[in-house]
Amino acid sequence: MRLQTCRRHPRAGRFMATCPGCAQELHDIEQANRARAEAELSAKVRTALGLPGYPAADDESETARRVGMWSQYELSAVYERVGGTVTTRTVQRSTYGGESTWDATEITVTVDLPGIGTVEVFTDWYEEYGGRDLPLMQATPDAELIAA
Ligand SMILES: [Zn+2]
Repeated sequence: MRLQTCRRHPRAGRFMATCPGCAQELHDIEQANRARAEAELSAKVRTALGLPGYPAADDESETARRVGMWSQYELSAVYERVGGTVTTRTVQRSTYGGESTWDATEITVTVDLPGIGTVEVFTDWYEEYGGRDLPLMQATPDAELIAA
């Protein structure tokens, strides 16, 4: 087997089939393209939800197609704007360091946005905020709401 060198990456030395420098470049380009596509989709989704300028996801449970809201009020406003299907489920949340955990009711609006596809918008029910009469909550009247 003849060893090769790469003119663009002379410091990569001699290699069998693939220049490590070129492989790293390709990897970096793919990463950047993925990040850009995700950011573009995220901006499109937020605009379609009526939330232009809404901060990008920083929670690991969020993606471009899964958007977290501050409370049932913001989520209800989105639901009134774009419609969709409202579901609830019990989830376990924990403090940042995981010292304590608790059960919460996660409310999700699943909506099919034109030209974008299925998107989920969610929040946890906060009993203290109230809002059982919100259109969002009226759409899921039998939900068991945990007072988290
Ligand atoms: Zn190379």
